[in-house]
Amino acid sequence: MLKKIQRAVRAMLPASGEEALPEPLILSRDEHSISRRQISKHALTILYDLNKAGHEAYLVGGCIRDLLLGGHPKDFDVATDATPEQVLALFRRARIVGRRFRIVHVRFGREIIEVTTFRASHDDAGSDGRQTDEGMLLRDNVFGSLREDALRRDFTVNALYYTVDEFRVLDYTGGLQDLQARTLRIIGDPEQRYREDPVRMLRAIRFAAKLDFSIEAKTAAPMQALSEQLGQVAPARLFDEVLKLFLGGHGARVFELLQQYQLFAPLFPATAGALAAGDERGQRLIECALANTDQRIANDKPVTPAFLYASLIWPAYTAAQAIAERDGLPAWQARQRAGQIAIEQQQQSVSIPKRFSIPAREIWNLQHNLQVAKGKRAESLLGHPRFRAAYDFMLMREQAGETIERGSDFWTELQKHHPVPEYRDTKDAPRPRRRRRGGARRKPEAQ
Ligand code: ATP
Ligand code: MG
Repeated sequence: MLKKIQRAVRAMLPASGEEALPEPLILSRDEHSISRRQISKHALTILYDLNKAGHEAYLVGGCIRDLLLGGHPKDFDVATDATPEQVLALFRRARIVGRRFRIVHVRFGREIIEVTTFRASHDDAGSDGRQTDEGMLLRDNVFGSLREDALRRDFTVNALYYTVDEFRVLDYTGGLQDLQARTLRIIGDPEQRYREDPVRMLRAIRFAAKLDFSIEAKTAAPMQALSEQLGQVAPARLFDEVLKLFLGGHGARVFELLQQYQLFAPLFPATAGALAAGDERGQRLIECALANTDQRIANDKPVTPAFLYASLIWPAYTAAQAIAERDGLPAWQARQRAGQIAIEQQQQSVSIPKRFSIPAREIWNLQHNLQVAKGKRAESLLGHPRFRAAYDFMLMREQAGETIERGSDFWTELQKHHPVPEYRDTKDAPRPRRRRRGGARRKPEAQ
């Protein structure tokens, strides 16, 4: 299949691959590897039904990218020229979601297919395509043509379309060539596209890590200078993005790339500050935590946002604790204060729902208890709902090179006689909320 794409691409694409194509490159059914069997039957139903009602309809985005790469898409997204209302009228279990980026969710049992009306760019946008003075999109409801829809997507490899009309793949932006070269390239002017939506910088990191793609030079160039733009994005949206970044199975690589492109600091300013001040142990702890998390995901084991956040903010917490002790607070009070400050500071950039910040603080608090509890108190600590998470956290600190007096060995031994089940909070672990695309959302509006 790749050979065929290569041939087709060579024949039809301009050499640079950077210019948007006036005409799409089209791969016919036998020139690509996507087979209908790999596609959700519900997504196909939607394509056929929309076509039958006289509309254009395509599968687009991650599903086509992943299928062409030989992977398994996690969901299927549809783009169409039908308006949300027209889509609503066609499908029984459909509802419009989002205000600033209106899309239709069509539900089939447990599967939800997102149906999005073609968007256009905002150069002459009216009230449905508002931007801030800095060029950030507040709304993205200007409908357009298929070609316009392709051009407003983020990366070329995310702008490939599949149609059941002769089962063709359409490429307006050079995405097939970039897929071949394993390159992530933003569509259009990188700086403008990041200003419109700074989350695109995080998406670049996420896809580069997940797909093991390199980020094309011009796509990467403005990131460092624009990293502060992430401060304009609503903390609630960043919470979703952070989970996608670190709980997607490639967290260790994501962390490396975020640091490389100076994008970690705007997300975790206090931790980044502590690391920059020389907290090498903190750096290693985060690396270990993410490597463990990646391993667990690879083994289909549950992972917990609370544990993730406890690790990512730990350097900020220990720094705050040191300051509080220097200020003369007794040790227990310093720990309390540090926990509170570390979470409060963090919330200003990335919000953390209480159901995760509370257990994260408990994990920190228990680090001390684990060092001192003896006899009956030690046994009763085994029954603490966060014991196992705190114990795992202690193991990780040791794995990261810390020597802890009365460390995990004591508890490993004790658990031989009193086994404690693994810590799970899967029931309240959120599925990252379905994305909102286009602009930064709540924050600018609230200003
Ligand atoms: P995955 O679902 O595997 O994480 P994806 O590419 O499908 O990756 P989604 O967040 O599901 O990512 O978005 C679907 C598609 O919508 C993307 O492929 C892209 O074309 C478009 N898109 C999403 N977010 C943005 C954005 N912030 N700016 C521009 N286009 C976007
Ligand atoms: Mg997707």
